[in-house]
Amino acid sequence: MSDSNAPPPSLYASREPIFPKRVSGSFRNLKWIIMIVTLGIYYITPWLRWDRGPQLPDQAVLIDLANRRFFFFWIEIWPHEFYFVAGLLIMAGLGLFLFTSALGRVWCGYACPQTVWTDLFILVERWIEGDRNARLRLHRQKKMDFRKMRLRATKWVAWFLIGLATGGAWVFYFADAPTLLVDLVTGQAHPAAYITMLILTLTTFFFGGFAREQICIYACPWPRIQAAMMDEETLTVGYREWRGEPRGKHRKAEGAENLGDCIDCMACVNVCPMGIDIRDGQQMECITCALCIDACDDVMAKIGKPRGLIDYLAFSDEPRERAGHDPRPVWKHIFRPRTIMYTTLWGLVGIGLVFALFIRPEIEMTVAPVRNPTFVTLSDGSIRNTYDVRLLNKHGEDRPFRITLTGDPTLRIQLEGTPYETVDVPANATYLQKVYVIAPTSSGPAAAERTEFRFWVEDLTNGDRAHNDTFFNGKAN
Ligand code: SF4
Ligand code: SF4
Repeated sequence: MSDSNAPPPSLYASREPIFPKRVSGSFRNLKWIIMIVTLGIYYITPWLRWDRGPQLPDQAVLIDLANRRFFFFWIEIWPHEFYFVAGLLIMAGLGLFLFTSALGRVWCGYACPQTVWTDLFILVERWIEGDRNARLRLHRQKKMDFRKMRLRATKWVAWFLIGLATGGAWVFYFADAPTLLVDLVTGQAHPAAYITMLILTLTTFFFGGFAREQICIYACPWPRIQAAMMDEETLTVGYREWRGEPRGKHRKAEGAENLGDCIDCMACVNVCPMGIDIRDGQQMECITCALCIDACDDVMAKIGKPRGLIDYLAFSDEPRERAGHDPRPVWKHIFRPRTIMYTTLWGLVGIGLVFALFIRPEIEMTVAPVRNPTFVTLSDGSIRNTYDVRLLNKHGEDRPFRITLTGDPTLRIQLEGTPYETVDVPANATYLQKVYVIAPTSSGPAAAERTEFRFWVEDLTNGDRAHNDTFFNGKAN
């Protein structure tokens, strides 16, 4: 008889810490290179200088929130040009689709910040506490003696310093890095800089040091989405079960001649940062970091078997391989309609952005008619309309801009505050100029309800022009 008062079984499973073993091989080397390049770009970029002239910041990459500008080497993006950022995000998305459909979760395995920083944290942990077995022993040691305390404290301090450098590097993207560094050290920086640094330091420390694979498994939506981008042609890390099974350690035992190539050494499991056994088949936890390939290739070399028991495989090749044939060449899996379509779209968006970058004007103008009142009758009977004209000078120096109009020849222009048609627009700024348009008393525009015309602005330094269409309100309104 069952006990109806018994508490229901717990659905909670506590986390088993993972202590990946050191591994060497070509995929591990590739991951080291990617780690050095990506971390190098992240930490060094804010310190690169780029001369833009005396009135502009000389930081190569700068998100200038105060002046609402984004500087990227020679490119300067203004708020109304946000479509460039949108275009880059679309390209990043298409690039992710392309790589996922061709090579599975390569982004997760090699370049995702969570993977890169976790890899760095594990490297530091290994330097301080030793390889897998030493770390396991330390973890299982219940007594907190001096040695354990020293190792733990050293590791946490090192992790914290990495977190601090990471948070620090982030805020340097938003202000002049050398100036901000001095301000941060002397306590004169804006509180927002300290708060941002603190949050990023602590999240890096926690995500890279403690949460690690839990972020990939439980917090990241990507493993759930990627399935839609993969198909049976996608190359992803898998186990040649038809070659490895039945697995067995005891090669000299009776019946060992019937065993497959897997010697059940667990090397592939021990190096896995996600703590899974790839021999159980494709799993959502697998980030395709390929470290198990390196580990198994090493084992295969030692026992004199061909490499590739664990390898980048496509499901579509499985029947061929089971029948004893070689898999199809890699390029056949990579170049297929789906990946070609993603590449084409990616290229088109990229070409569009480059084109837009080169044809964008260096001066711009917006016109807002003042409609309260719609028009004013002057003492001589002429009709006057008022317009707020905003002039944008994207150059690094002040420039003289001339404002004119075309349309009905009787319309006359007058700038507020100056008898001339020219105004000096400061460098890298928007300048608001009130402009009057006047129609003589007996002219057509003075009597008509509305007369369309065009405002022109001309940069007198280089002759660049921009225009804006609007209309004149006459007495018929
Ligand atoms: S199973 Fe292999 S490829 Fe997948 S996460 Fe583990 S080590 Fe990386
Ligand atoms: S490393 Fe290779 S041989 Fe060892 S258990 Fe894994 S698959 Fe089998």
